[in-house]
Amino acid sequence: IRYADGKGWYDARVEARAPIPMDPASAVLHYAQEIFEGLKAYQSVDGGVTLFRPEANAARFAASARRMAMPELPEQAFLESLEHLVGIDRDWIPSVEGGSLYLRPFMFASEVFLGVRPANEYLYVLIASPVGSYFSGGVQPVTVWVSPDYTRAAPGGTGAAKCGGNYAASLVAQAEAIEHGCDQVVFLDAVERRWVDELGGMNVFFVYDDGSLVTPPLTGTILPGITRESVLRLAERAGHTVAEQPVSFEQWQADAASGRLREVFACGTAAVITPIGEVRHPGGSFTVGDGGPGAVTMSVRQQLVDIQRGAADDEYGWVRRVR
Ligand code: PMP
Repeated sequence: IRYADGKGWYDARVEARAPIPMDPASAVLHYAQEIFEGLKAYQSVDGGVTLFRPEANAARFAASARRMAMPELPEQAFLESLEHLVGIDRDWIPSVEGGSLYLRPFMFASEVFLGVRPANEYLYVLIASPVGSYFSGGVQPVTVWVSPDYTRAAPGGTGAAKCGGNYAASLVAQAEAIEHGCDQVVFLDAVERRWVDELGGMNVFFVYDDGSLVTPPLTGTILPGITRESVLRLAERAGHTVAEQPVSFEQWQADAASGRLREVFACGTAAVITPIGEVRHPGGSFTVGDGGPGAVTMSVRQQLVDIQRGAADDEYGWVRRVR
């Protein structure tokens, strides 16, 4: 779907996947005015096709657009694009356990113009790709690296928006994590270098010995994850106390050492919920609990997966059926 100032959204079409011709002076190539989303379509247990909370992705996409001075795609157009593409051929959606069709809506400044100002023309595109289970052979705990030097987002910056530039800035820290034998980077806040923000592509939860769950608050430097919000609701429903509260890295270490902290997990669309087994940082490393997947982590994970696949009651109305 195209957008031009004064004309609005126009020219919605479905095409076979092909390269997009771009002028070398297309604004996005120079000033990175680009946003995206990520969500999945599932084969549900009753043979239908479902999307998980796509309205939340539409809302976050609109919020990202506002932050990046881009036009907002109406929610209905966003949802229709998903349903249309998914509806073309249901066989695209893997029916194997854990499989899904990954959907990637994105929008960028297509105007041919060199100059730092919001562009006048944009292109919204949706692509899809079948994905298998993130964990073939059981849920594996990941090892994380706490980056001493790099931050992902500063107050007043674009941390709460899902824009490509945030990920460009995170790559060097992610590479550092890999060099240290870790799967993912943990970002601390940019001001005090003390508070845990999130992982490279996931939000984080702490589970304590009294059964409570804590996740860092949305202060503008963290991506408001849809899985994060779903976990808060499910854990509360299951009788856990949940809180959005700052957690310092120091406290994380101290609580892991004392045993008060029982489990830590990361969550996001790609891997749903991933236990964090080991934490590495410039001063050493430590494990949380016994380093394996914890009971609360696995139980919340199962609840979420069951709702997504239509195998459990959808009492929050999170599942959208595609006809
Ligand atoms: N934080 C970051 C930086 C991410 O890229 C993602 C993945 N979109 C998340 C958190 C989790 O968000 P969601 O649960 O909506 O996938």
